[in-house]
Amino acid sequence: MSLDSQSADNAEKLAAQAAWKKCLDIIRDNINNQQSFKTWFEPIVPLKLVGEEITIQVPSQFFYEWIEENYYTLLKRTIIDVIGRNAKLTYSVVVQRSPIEPVTVKLPQQPVEQTSVREVKTSRVAFDFYKSNVQRYESYLNPKYVFESFIKGDCNALAFAAAKSIAETPGKNTFNPLVLYGGVGLGKTHLAQAIGNAVRARQKAEMILYVSCEKFTLDFVNAIQTNRRSEFSAFYRNVDLLIIDDIQFFADKEKTQEEVFHIFNTLHQANKQIVLTCDRPIKELRGLEERLLSRFAWGLSADLQAPDYETRLAILQKKMEDNGTSLPRDVIEFIATNVVSNIRELEGCLIKLMATASLHGREIDLSLTKTVLKDIIRDRTVNITLEMIEKVVCDYYKLSPNDLKGKSRKQELALARQLAMFLGKTLTNSSFKTIGLHFGGRDHSTVIHAVNTIEKGQNESPEIRKDVEELKKRLEILAL
Ligand code: ADP
Ligand code: MG
Repeated sequence: MSLDSQSADNAEKLAAQAAWKKCLDIIRDNINNQQSFKTWFEPIVPLKLVGEEITIQVPSQFFYEWIEENYYTLLKRTIIDVIGRNAKLTYSVVVQRSPIEPVTVKLPQQPVEQTSVREVKTSRVAFDFYKSNVQRYESYLNPKYVFESFIKGDCNALAFAAAKSIAETPGKNTFNPLVLYGGVGLGKTHLAQAIGNAVRARQKAEMILYVSCEKFTLDFVNAIQTNRRSEFSAFYRNVDLLIIDDIQFFADKEKTQEEVFHIFNTLHQANKQIVLTCDRPIKELRGLEERLLSRFAWGLSADLQAPDYETRLAILQKKMEDNGTSLPRDVIEFIATNVVSNIRELEGCLIKLMATASLHGREIDLSLTKTVLKDIIRDRTVNITLEMIEKVVCDYYKLSPNDLKGKSRKQELALARQLAMFLGKTLTNSSFKTIGLHFGGRDHSTVIHAVNTIEKGQNESPEIRKDVEELKKRLEILAL
């Protein structure tokens, strides 16, 4: 970048800061709740003012949506006041895809008037840091991702144990490379970085580097274009613990794969630790060279699976503790019941709830939760009918509909019947009376009793809890 364009950038930034400061003064005076101002406006960073177009950076997509939903008019008026009649506003959302660096993405714009959205590039090359100052290279580790904040469950037990063991003896174990694989939002990045953070804390390795596959690729391409390939290679071959995230993105990038191959060999031979993450098992990767795949399979592959109910609850509880907040038990259970496949989404729900609470200064209860989270938690129960419940319960317990609806008081029949009624009440909008009629012409008080029994049973008996969960799961699938 030339000096001229640098100083032009600087001027745009200063202009944005000055204008935004004026805007903030107006906005502050127009928002009753100072906490809201703190929450939603203080984190905004003015990036540049070009002509009458101001670009501001917000910390997340959710943030952006919130501002647009709640402060659109105020923001519009203010910006026109400060900048001029034709003022335009552009958001730049910093998505924390990985903690390497903020990535600025294009957004479907929500203009003050109309706006052109431009991408702001903030690309930094890892090995530049190294070159400029060997002692102060960036490891790109996010201090948030540590073992202590990671909840262990059946779903991730092996991965967790392997990660911990590696953090103790990086490079000097048979888990080299360690491959952590699993679906989106299940903790691969967290665990991989926890290794890096632990190794750094205990000073078990000197040079630790976390890099996403995309960043590695970009840096590599960049190095080739600027004739610095050997510098690039030398940099990576010096790393003592190398963590590469999301290696599935190496697919079909032949040159990059070749480079990875050589780096891998050098590090492996020198007993340097390599940690990789991937969205699927190595053998299912496509578009990667055979020799690379065979090396990736040398060490240990450990999978991360979707957490079960208990683990989801534990994760929510941990996140609340970490945030210094607490939510009512039924709210937590509602989230844990409904967000089943992705831990990132679990977190998203908490953040959204907490934001709402701080904004409205209102206690969070179950009904508010349902309203606030309605976009995230699709109501999976809308299509569920009493007939479906009957079918699923009969299949599950291997009963005939006559057994279920009949008069027998045998214990296992009674339990199945009570479960069916309980599910009828919790998953459909049927009244106690309708449910009673459906399941063998029973009185509404029998249904109330059944619901109470199962609710109590869920708290006391892991088997009942498991049955309820399994039945709900089957019903949701049936109702899709
Ligand atoms: P992935 O890389 O597999 O897509 P991440 O590691 O980015 O998933 O995890 C998504 C979010 O969920 C992160 O904020 C992470 O801290 C959190 N998370 C994932 N697994 C756990 C866990 N077992 N305990 C606590 N938090 C978790
Ligand atoms: Mg990840």
